[in-house]
Amino acid sequence: MSVSRDSRTVSRNDGTVEVRGWVQDIRNLGGISFVILRDRFGTIQITLPKKKIDAELFEKLTTLPRESVISVTGDVKASDQTELGLEIIPLSFILHSSAAVPLPMGVIDKVNVEMDTRLNNRFMDLRKPEIRAIFELKSLMLELLNEAMTANGFMQVFTPKVVASGAEGGSTLFKVDYFGRPAYLAQSPQLYKQMLMSTGLDRIYEIGPAFRAEHSNTNRHVTEFISFDGEMSWISSQSDIMGMIEKVIDHILRGLKDKGRGQLALLGKDVNVPSVPYPVLTYAECLNMLASKGMNLKEGDDLGTEGEKIIGEIMSEKGNDLYWIAEYPEAEKPFYIMEKDGTPYSFSFDLDYKGQEISSGGQREHRYDKLRERMIKKGLDPESFDFYLDAFKYGMPPHGGWGIGIERMLVKMLDLPNVREAILFPRDLSRLSP
Ligand code: ATP
Repeated sequence: MSVSRDSRTVSRNDGTVEVRGWVQDIRNLGGISFVILRDRFGTIQITLPKKKIDAELFEKLTTLPRESVISVTGDVKASDQTELGLEIIPLSFILHSSAAVPLPMGVIDKVNVEMDTRLNNRFMDLRKPEIRAIFELKSLMLELLNEAMTANGFMQVFTPKVVASGAEGGSTLFKVDYFGRPAYLAQSPQLYKQMLMSTGLDRIYEIGPAFRAEHSNTNRHVTEFISFDGEMSWISSQSDIMGMIEKVIDHILRGLKDKGRGQLALLGKDVNVPSVPYPVLTYAECLNMLASKGMNLKEGDDLGTEGEKIIGEIMSEKGNDLYWIAEYPEAEKPFYIMEKDGTPYSFSFDLDYKGQEISSGGQREHRYDKLRERMIKKGLDPESFDFYLDAFKYGMPPHGGWGIGIERMLVKMLDLPNVREAILFPRDLSRLSP
């Protein structure tokens, strides 16, 4: 019999095995004791029949503090009492690191621990398989995302995260001191990915951190998140971009459902894969839908968290988890979005998932004079965006793109209650450590 469930288990020529991990639990039942050892892949039982084990070994192994790290060498025995169908009878062990007592929080105790306590002791929280599963799924999601982008001819790029000017409004900029000059942490790669469109690199994407000095403490805002941004040239309309996002999300959802089965089972979740294309609502239609539910917004108002939630409920009744909200008023949108000429609207869209925005994007204004005009209209000084505008002055194709918050998407896929659940070490209004 061999233990070959993972690379951390070493089988020896003499027939013994060495298993390594954290002491999750110790049960002493008088004549027999059990040490439950945990690694990344699960648990294994070390069985110690008192009479058959060296007394000193028995004593040392069964009095270890929980969560200590050990390697155990022993014989493998078949067992119909354990999940793996086997157990280890120990011959020797090495104590690599003894855990202090008491633990800051339990790993297997079934008590509800406050999120703050969990985040303060995140290294401990992440020892729980169901918490680690979220990050394994996040990693799988990014693997699938890269696959989909490569298959569609996109090239991965990396743009600066310390920048001279922001693109998404001054109120959420983090200011840093750059050798005596003011600089900012990038809110998005917006300006750079558009500049790349003028180079001929006509399909690019970036997965990287975005920083927003969000002053509100909500379950969907953090100050540092991972943004998945794409930009593509030669589009005929914003529908080309929406179609591309649908392809990517569909690939991710199908892949998670298939390759993430184990982790989804641990979390007790299933992933719903809505059929593409996703329904498109216009902003104007949304105002009417909200009015029908007694929420009266004026033309030009932001739909707001509450409005998004109500639309989510209406769409969910029709079986639509994912849907577009397109053609927002141009006044609501940043300078780089193209206006829908002759109307107060713009060629923009949001992608909403179960009542929450996870992405926004649109067709960009690629005409130099118009773009400059829009900047002035939005109260920005074109002079301070010279480095960006120059790329439009000397030949820029029509283009458009999107930004998707990776954590917001994962949270909606898995129905998690808070965006912080999908971030290893979240940063927010009050949290800067760990
Ligand atoms: P919201 O109105 O919900 O604050 P936004 O309009 O500021 O979002 P965009 O600038 O359009 O967001 O950013 C694109 C995407 O990036 C959002 O749809 C979301 O998925 C993600 N995102 C933006 N801000 C945050 C944040 N503070 N925390 C987590 N994700 C965010």
